[in-house]
Amino acid sequence: MTELERKQDHAPIPVGWEYETAPESRDIVTLRERYGHFVGGEWLEPKEAYTTISPATEEPLAEVGQATEEEVQLAVQAARDAFENGWSALAGAERAKYLYRIARILQERAREFAVLESLNGGKPIRESRDVDVPLSAAHFFYYAGWADKLEYAFPNRKPKPLGVAGQIIPWNFPLLMLAWKVAPALAAGNTVVLKPAETTPLSALLFCDVLRQAELPAGVVNIVTGDGRAGAALVKSDVDKIAFTGSTEVGKAIKRELAGTGTKLTLELGGKAANVIFDDAALDQAVEGIVNGIYFNQGHVCCAGSRLLVQESIYEATVDKLKRRLQTLRVGDPLDKNTDVGAINSQAQLEKIQELVASGEEEGAEIYQPPCRLPEKGYWFVPTVFTNVAQSYRIAQEEIFGPVLSVLTFRTPDEAVEKANNTPYGLSAGVWTEKGSRILAMAQRLRAGVIWANTYNRFDPASPFGGYKESGFGREGGLHGLAPYLDFE
Ligand code: NAD
Repeated sequence: MTELERKQDHAPIPVGWEYETAPESRDIVTLRERYGHFVGGEWLEPKEAYTTISPATEEPLAEVGQATEEEVQLAVQAARDAFENGWSALAGAERAKYLYRIARILQERAREFAVLESLNGGKPIRESRDVDVPLSAAHFFYYAGWADKLEYAFPNRKPKPLGVAGQIIPWNFPLLMLAWKVAPALAAGNTVVLKPAETTPLSALLFCDVLRQAELPAGVVNIVTGDGRAGAALVKSDVDKIAFTGSTEVGKAIKRELAGTGTKLTLELGGKAANVIFDDAALDQAVEGIVNGIYFNQGHVCCAGSRLLVQESIYEATVDKLKRRLQTLRVGDPLDKNTDVGAINSQAQLEKIQELVASGEEEGAEIYQPPCRLPEKGYWFVPTVFTNVAQSYRIAQEEIFGPVLSVLTFRTPDEAVEKANNTPYGLSAGVWTEKGSRILAMAQRLRAGVIWANTYNRFDPASPFGGYKESGFGREGGLHGLAPYLDFE
């Protein structure tokens, strides 16, 4: 018991904090009852529709289209027409103007997008407001800067746009993944058909209004909504490139489908990142990094630090601090500005997390969950830590994509590298140590596309992002993210 706790009755400051709620108003967002597909700059009334909900309350938000093959075809044709009738011939500096406009409008409408993203996706408003929306605008600004400099970006290689890009994105960062895909495609001179994930279509549909405000020529960006069937129709359609972010399983199916067709492909898939803590690390900061690494966005993050590798000599101190820190995480209403952990994105995802957590307990790992009151409606999962985890357990091998951390230990740097790399994935990793030389040595040996040192989950539009092995191929962000949207002579 701390000195302060012992003196609790007489202490000048309270120890047991109860936070007031601080809800963000949702009035800033006006939703239509029903949305169509955005094709050729107009709303196409969908043949089939479904209801999209708020995962925090299960409240219906709007009806959206489930695109049929014909509707996807119409969108691809609209993109093809826009490519051939002007967009591909437009000077880079002119394309840049549109991208800058989109970036500025996203900034101006930031609060609206943040509220909508939290409403439809379940993520805390603090994250949508401070991460998703500003980073989305930053991506458009960044690629606007490249649009008229492609010859300098790729000297002596005569870059040319590919044509129509089909883009399929997941539900964990709906607007940000849209920005990662649309901004480089347009900067390179392509047109786009984008399909958002079925559970989170609303920010992409609001983005259509941004395109209208920016006066982007009709058909340059088209958006069709719906589940995997709409995605599969887009893959089969007459596009020149598919850019896919999502699960490894679907990524493999797309690769099989496109084999031998000549359609270009980039895949950003799953991950099972190791966050490696050495005994000379600044432990309090490392614990913050661990928490940010796995509980940010409810762990619905492809690069989440879902495996903690901690050096044996500091194992107990680390786990103690981590458990105490977990007790202070506030789980609840995504629209409350005090919330740290929001709702799980869907019933299906919640069931997947529950199944994997049950397997961890069955296989013999020790579970810790802080005391936590969960809302009665909606999809929720308590932030969870597993200790006593063996490398063979499913919770150490499979992507949980939820707020669940598996803790393993190591003694030497060699053992840390071996365990960190012992996964089919290779998207990201974290290293915590005060030694610069050790950071560099580890970064060379860890088989991961992104490696953070003494920080975690940092993103910048100028920095390429992507994986090895079953985490996919191709890079998004930076100059590397432009090349997959270009042909070279
Ligand atoms: P998912 O693969 O089920 O769905 C992703 C998208 O693909 C959705 O839009 C979905 O409708 C569509 N889709 C589903 N079946 C399809 C098919 N047969 N053909 C074409 N499209 C199809 O994945 P998810 O559950 O939405 O997203 C979570 C996954 O995404 C995780 O594995 C995560 O690691 C990964 N992810 C990766 C990155 C990255 O950059 N590497 C970023 C975010 C998420």
